[in-house]
Amino acid sequence: MNSRRTIIFFSFIVVVLSVAAITSPHAAVTQQDQAPKKQQTPTIDEYQPKSTLVTKEHKIERAKFPFIDIHSHHWNPTAAEVDQLVKEMDTINLRVMVNLSGGTGEQLKNTVAVMKGRYPDRFVVFANMSYHDLNTPGFGKRVAARLEEDVKNGAQGLKIFKNFGMDLKYTNGERVHVDDPIFDAVFEKCAELKIPVLIHVAEPSAFFDPWDYHNERWEELKEFPGRARPPAKYPPFETLMTERNHLFAKHPKTNFIAAHLGFHGNDLERLGKLFDTNPNVYVDIAAVLAELGRQPYSAHDFLVKYQDRVLMGKDIYEVNEYKWYFRALETRDEYFEYYRKRHAFWRIYGFQVPDEVLKKVYYKNALKLVPGIDAKAFPE
Ligand SMILES: [Zn+2]
Repeated sequence: MNSRRTIIFFSFIVVVLSVAAITSPHAAVTQQDQAPKKQQTPTIDEYQPKSTLVTKEHKIERAKFPFIDIHSHHWNPTAAEVDQLVKEMDTINLRVMVNLSGGTGEQLKNTVAVMKGRYPDRFVVFANMSYHDLNTPGFGKRVAARLEEDVKNGAQGLKIFKNFGMDLKYTNGERVHVDDPIFDAVFEKCAELKIPVLIHVAEPSAFFDPWDYHNERWEELKEFPGRARPPAKYPPFETLMTERNHLFAKHPKTNFIAAHLGFHGNDLERLGKLFDTNPNVYVDIAAVLAELGRQPYSAHDFLVKYQDRVLMGKDIYEVNEYKWYFRALETRDEYFEYYRKRHAFWRIYGFQVPDEVLKKVYYKNALKLVPGIDAKAFPE
């Protein structure tokens, strides 16, 4: 190749490459690929990647068996609200709803009347303690007497809310401990009346940790800063666990249902140990499904092993949210979005349990613990 032909050849190559660079779609893609580098990093709220995973999905609208929701809240419902509730319950196979917010005295009577009075086999109402006379001597015995009266008036259990052990204080400013002996008479009364105590102690342990970028409930604490439990104002998580476990141990004849997997959903071995040492302790899965759904193998094995100790519950009532529970308990679906992002930024997996286990979680364990529910409405 002489030098003139070489120059012409290379000039031709340069022209071809220039045209290609302008018109080629590959060149455009290359430019686009580099574009995000100029953008700012998205915030945690902005980053919403769409999963490209293609896998089997089972949208279960109705539970496989009729079930009992052991953990629901309906404060002073009206007759119209209760009618609507029953219609919605029928669509998802929710046979019996346990309203934990019955109150005490007149309020309890009214709630029983509007729910059980009109649908005797569809509702259960739990009583609550009133602390108005906490500082007057003889408080524990009076609460026990009020509870006995509430049970005569139709209550079938006692619910203790989360202020117990955290916010509830004597007038001298001293915190009421979860295992405070002043309440012994109440728990002994529950054993005598053969009613369970559904008790909410503490909060997710992350609420007691610093609100920083390592906290896995960062989003929830941003949305609800009041849920933080800083050490300046609250006892540590472990102190509450110690008091709670002491309470369970000192009333072996009283059946306790620790709400929300006892806040050990992120440590099922620890929950297993609690079960092993306290045969009177049970849990519900209300509002902590994402804890089980992020560890489907462990969740499955745990539910099989402790199938007599776990109860179905939902907490905040929303008829359209139960299907996540059905899907997690009844299928092996993978990597699906959870219904409440502030509880779990992660996706969850189904941990499908055998039918015999499912029946226990859905209703058999509740039938065993809560007196007065008609078992005939449920399969063998
Ligand atoms: Zn609740």
